[in-house]
Amino acid sequence: MEYELVRSRRRSLEVRVFPDGHVQVRAPQRLALRHVRAFVDERRGWIEKQQRHMAERPRQRWRHGDHCTHLGDTLSLELAAGRRRVARHHNHLRVTVPDPDDERQVSDAVHEWWRAQARPLFQARIEALFPWFAARGHDFPVLRVKKMRTRWGSLSQRGYINLSLLLMQYPLAVIDYVVMHELCHLEHMNHGPDFHALMDRRMPDWRRRKMLLEG
Ligand SMILES: [Zn+2]
Repeated sequence: MEYELVRSRRRSLEVRVFPDGHVQVRAPQRLALRHVRAFVDERRGWIEKQQRHMAERPRQRWRHGDHCTHLGDTLSLELAAGRRRVARHHNHLRVTVPDPDDERQVSDAVHEWWRAQARPLFQARIEALFPWFAARGHDFPVLRVKKMRTRWGSLSQRGYINLSLLLMQYPLAVIDYVVMHELCHLEHMNHGPDFHALMDRRMPDWRRRKMLLEG
């Protein structure tokens, strides 16, 4: 099995499968290659299942009349030629780019439009959900918006909360679920029973929201 190996200052091995089927293994700096190979071998079944799943998923297209989702709403793309501009009108998304037949230009314009809204929106959601954590003595995390393709969010021990730009496709209830998940890592840096008990207390319907994210 082919995979890309990325060495970093992490302590554990992790494997990711990207939407195009690309496999990336992240490993600690000095871990022997045979351990990496054994790790990949053990997960071969899971990796192949992910690759099949990715291949079967319809890829987002960016042509006139195609649909995209924005904060949970389905919008139909209206393309025109001109200076780069994106504007929503009811359930249409009007995208103007120099060459509307170039799906890449259309996709880039929409992602840029999302990026402009993501930061203030995500920041407001963190602020809304943070007071309980502030009362527990935690520092307000610093937001970073990234175009992550394989995960929705993460929390670093150095005080950063990373959220995926692609969350802009989902309803606020789902964005709040991801923010709450990451904030609960301030209390528990794992996904053990205590973590889930805290999620149950802070957001009793989190499982329903999570299903919207993966479905
Ligand atoms: Zn987590």
